[in-house]
Amino acid sequence: MSTRTGIGYDSHRFTADIPLRLGGVTIPHTHGLQGHSDGDAVLHAITDALLGAAALGDIGGFFPDTDDRWKGANSVTFVRGAVEALNGLKFSIVNVDVTVITEQPKLAPHIEAMCAQTAAALGIPMERVSIKAKTNEGMGWIGRGEGLATIAVATISA
Ligand code: MG
Repeated sequence: MSTRTGIGYDSHRFTADIPLRLGGVTIPHTHGLQGHSDGDAVLHAITDALLGAAALGDIGGFFPDTDDRWKGANSVTFVRGAVEALNGLKFSIVNVDVTVITEQPKLAPHIEAMCAQTAAALGIPMERVSIKAKTNEGMGWIGRGEGLATIAVATISA
């Protein structure tokens, strides 16, 4: 058996009065994440971690932001695309672990729903998906609330 690990990072700028999508869930907040797609930085980092684990490139290669097909896209589509690519190489997903770094909103009340929706997008049981949130202790662009960042690690095996 071959086991591999990949890492993914994403960041998006906050914009007022658009929906905030994270982990496939719409979270009540004053700001959402600006992006070509729905701006779901959790699912984008996971997509990159999955593709990275299989050395298949990155989300921009699979779903270019110059392509109108992905304008306003539900980012579940990107996760599913990565899973299909992995399945084509006989890889299955062992687990995914994500950290969201943001000052606002507080994500604790939404973590369970985010894990459930992310697991559904990945097609794996929820106990294999971990999503954690932390602040940046008020420092830098994240501390000023200009945007948020996400880091994901994925392990796959074949
Ligand atoms: Mg992104």
